[in-house]
Amino acid sequence: MKRKKIIVGNWKMHLNVHQSSVLLHQLNQHIKAYRNVEVVLAPSMLSLQPLSLQIDRRKFRLAAQNAYYIDEGAFTGEVSFSMLRDIVHYVIIGHSERRLYFHEDLPLIRDKVASAVRNEIIPIICVGETKREYEAHETKRVVHDQLTTAISNLTSREIETLVIAYEPVWAISNGSNFAKHVIAKPDQVAEVAAYIREIIESLYGKVAAELVRILYGGSSNAENAYSYLSIPGIDGLLPGGASLNYSEFSGIIAAAERVEALTMKEATK
Ligand code: PEP
Repeated sequence: MKRKKIIVGNWKMHLNVHQSSVLLHQLNQHIKAYRNVEVVLAPSMLSLQPLSLQIDRRKFRLAAQNAYYIDEGAFTGEVSFSMLRDIVHYVIIGHSERRLYFHEDLPLIRDKVASAVRNEIIPIICVGETKREYEAHETKRVVHDQLTTAISNLTSREIETLVIAYEPVWAISNGSNFAKHVIAKPDQVAEVAAYIREIIESLYGKVAAELVRILYGGSSNAENAYSYLSIPGIDGLLPGGASLNYSEFSGIIAAAERVEALTMKEATK
């Protein structure tokens, strides 16, 4: 079963509406419509609606960076998945910055995942260990706990469409230092990706494990994208800092396209 490559640009809390529109315009000029690579942009909540009117849907899809799990009510400052359902295809859930700065715990992330699925928005679930956990060799335990809780209210059918991003917290840049930041070794990424598939297979069966897409996130850029995307079991990337620069981001998409072209060539040999 073939999984389509997916690159998700997480713009985080950068770019106002005008700047977002300019970046989309630049990306539109530099990125072609690729059949085998899905390109997803996650601008701020404020830019989602205007970008949804500007976007070329043959090339790009939109993701929200967050939403609230209850559909409507007295929750000052929140936006629900049901309000976003006609605007976005995807939503990033469980990003380490939300776990850390906004105290999102495992049950809240589980409820957000269930709400996204109920509203027909595909969750991109982020999992990954902190530096301290990495040094204490707790990566697998952390990934296991984060993942199994997040997906515990889903059926195997719902699991099949999911995107899971392995993002070691220690490899994520703060936005401005992404080019020089410490990055995860391909071997480690491959091992965790295989472990994630193993968890899915043991709980939801072979088909779900083969269909679920697994991304790597943590200081990916145009230079290292090809090697990460060549790791068996890795179906895409979730760049933060690099997604704010049209030439870096277009370079990542071009790398994904090159990996896909090579895979297809090898398959037809
Ligand atoms: C992220 O926060 O998801 C991320 C991967 O950021 P960066 O690429 O800037 O390290």
